[in-house]
Amino acid sequence: MAQILDGRLVAKELKARLRQRVEELRARGVAPTLVLVRVGEDPASGVYLRAKGKACKAVGIESRLVHFPEDVSGDTLRAEVRDLCREAAVHGVVVQLPLPAHIDEDEIIATLDPAKDVDGFHPHNLGLLCLGSPRFVPATPLGILRILDYYDIDLDGRPVVVVGRSRIVGRPLANLLSAKRTPGNATVTLCHSRTRNLGDVTRGAEILIVAAGQKGLISAEMVSPEAVVIDVGMHREPDPDRPGKERLCGDVDFAALADRVRAITPVPGGVGPMTVACLLENTVVAAESGPPGPRHQE
Ligand code: NAD
Repeated sequence: MAQILDGRLVAKELKARLRQRVEELRARGVAPTLVLVRVGEDPASGVYLRAKGKACKAVGIESRLVHFPEDVSGDTLRAEVRDLCREAAVHGVVVQLPLPAHIDEDEIIATLDPAKDVDGFHPHNLGLLCLGSPRFVPATPLGILRILDYYDIDLDGRPVVVVGRSRIVGRPLANLLSAKRTPGNATVTLCHSRTRNLGDVTRGAEILIVAAGQKGLISAEMVSPEAVVIDVGMHREPDPDRPGKERLCGDVDFAALADRVRAITPVPGGVGPMTVACLLENTVVAAESGPPGPRHQE
């Protein structure tokens, strides 16, 4: 049976340390503050934002939800986001994606002050990450690094396969894991929807990280028995044990792999809890960094 890499446990310990750091900040008169920007009524965004707000509260971070109507113009949203970033008492601003189709997400993200972009999606922050000196690492890749570190999974020189090249997970992760630093120094292959013979590539991985958004994409014959498997995928499916209810599952056939591989993250309880915890970590880092330097100008 594979070792279960317990993201809930790692997140719990991380949040306990963050609570301590927040107390130290408050003792210095700094109340770490995160603004969550929502546009429209996308139900999944509502769920994620509620979870983020609740997690903030649990570690003592102030959070404020700023909700715009579905038909807000891109110009208005940009102006509002810029104003929020200018508030001295605000340390982090998160714009919940996806935005409605009439708004250019890249333009909105580029409006953020990079010093308050705790999601790490601003081109400036992604550029720093690519250069090997990240400021804010996007929360999901950071959470995966923290899980690997917690369980002492050695990356140095190892063959790592990342499936999925999204800007928020696969691409930054491949960059971080291959960087000349610790954790890093891995030999990384980045797979995507055009990769041929995916199983031939994934079987060569000592560490396999799957963020493809395809339920059950990775079957038992696609992995080495020595592999450590990190499943980022998040999907809903009917729960066979609770008729009429749903449960979460990932991009990996967990039941089949759990008997076969060296270690694996479950869904739920793997990467998901770490994503939220690492957003909190970035917010605490932003608050600890003190008043930002010269502001980013558009
Ligand atoms: P995305 O949908 O933006 O991109 C998916 C990537 O996977 C693309 O680069 C695509 O080329 C690749 N891909 C798709 N099908 C493939 C296939 N058959 N073979 C190889 N590559 C394939 O993805 P995302 O935003 O990174 O999200 C991926 C998954 O992770 C989703 O299920 C999402 O819900 C989940 N997710 C979970 C968390 C978390 O906290 N647990 C955070 C972010 C995303």
